[in-house]
Amino acid sequence: MVLPQKLFNDLQGIKGFNKPAFIAAHELAAATSVRINPYKDIGLFTANEKVPWCSNGVYLKERPVFTLDPAFHAGAYYVQEASSMFLEHLLNSVLPDKKGLRVLDLCAAPGGKSTLIAGLLDKDSLLISNEVIRARASILEENMERWGYMNTWVTGNDPRDFGRLTGYFDVIVVDAPCSGSGLWRKDARALDEWSEANVQLCSERQQRILADVWPALKEDGILVYATCSYSPQEDEDILDWLASEYVVQSLPVEIKEEWGIVAVNSSKGMAGYRFFPDKVKGEGFFIAALQKKEDADELRPVRFKTAHDKKIQQLAGHLLKDNDLLFIKDKENYCAIRPGHETDIHLLQQAVYLRKTGLKLGSPAAKEWLPDHEVALSIDANTSLPGINADREQALRYLKREDMGIGDLEKGWLVVKYNGLGLGWVKSLGNRMNNYLPKHWRIRMDIDTSFL
Ligand code: SAM
Repeated sequence: MVLPQKLFNDLQGIKGFNKPAFIAAHELAAATSVRINPYKDIGLFTANEKVPWCSNGVYLKERPVFTLDPAFHAGAYYVQEASSMFLEHLLNSVLPDKKGLRVLDLCAAPGGKSTLIAGLLDKDSLLISNEVIRARASILEENMERWGYMNTWVTGNDPRDFGRLTGYFDVIVVDAPCSGSGLWRKDARALDEWSEANVQLCSERQQRILADVWPALKEDGILVYATCSYSPQEDEDILDWLASEYVVQSLPVEIKEEWGIVAVNSSKGMAGYRFFPDKVKGEGFFIAALQKKEDADELRPVRFKTAHDKKIQQLAGHLLKDNDLLFIKDKENYCAIRPGHETDIHLLQQAVYLRKTGLKLGSPAAKEWLPDHEVALSIDANTSLPGINADREQALRYLKREDMGIGDLEKGWLVVKYNGLGLGWVKSLGNRMNNYLPKHWRIRMDIDTSFL
């Protein structure tokens, strides 16, 4: 891998940069790591080496074909490079009490940081997972459905739109679009596309994104800023820019020396954390947290009549574990939300488009309720719903939308489960069944099930 001299020029004198070691690390393959879903923990990878800064992160010895693992499709874990998992340590350090928070993950697709944040929040908190690029927002939505949390909602807005939600969020995470030098080992295209001009463009865009979303952070709220770029123009310089534009307080966190993470200070004394692949078992990454120390306008309270629909609760309530939920119709979807979150719909809708609100329940038909796919994947699904325990081959057949080869079943809607985790629905007619896996979730890969 031939690395650009121009990046080396920018990194000269940066704390922790060791050119020969950096070059040598780029001759090695990136490590594979995954993060277990804490609410779908079925005891996978328990003997594996742990990611030291993330309670649910583990390294895998080699990269398997994840598509062939039904547990992956069930949302039991998320494949994420290890440096990014430092977000858990950062959030736990600056926010030990994470109750009833409103959190925005502004640049969220495909969902690595959002799935991590969701696992740290209590059920009264709300995570708004946003992605401006439409095709990527669909992938984000699918990944968040698979992860299975009712209090993670998905929006597809430009950062500017959030600026109207003044003082609404307790935490905003900006995992900014960047020049991507930290990912060269995983994506050689990012190396071909790298240029000084692009670093400059990214730096300007990062400032624009932050300026747009800044009004939405409340006073004393926390901003987490991250990139996968080594360039100081996208890292320390952005922290300095924030410190010059706004009243902020840097939030340094404790790290262990053996982790190999480099703690840096920007010229204005803002703390940040840089990950070099020759020092950590992970990819290039930069992250920092700071607190807003200036007034933020408050949103005007909204008045509304609850949309809770008891009839929907009667028809669909059996699908879920809890009965203290609200059952509402949001646009064309019937969904369940936590009682404390109805106000949020009204507040958010003033500024942004909600792609996914709460848990989609499905829809009423003549004589039955047609359950949404999302219910089968939800951690809030009623565990005593009728189901089928599929082995790996049957589960993969289901995920390919093929005949699972199981006959003689009770009639009705059944959740297909793998190791106790829901994968989706089938409707059994006794001697045969219809596969209700949404077409766009189908595994397209050819699988020779004879060797499974
Ligand atoms: N947080 C994600 C994760 O952990 O999986 C990765 C996010 S990636 C580094 C940056 C994201 O910003 C991309 O999904 C990209 O589509 C989005 N993006 C691109 N341009 C943007 C803009 N102008 N404003 C906000 N987000 C943008």
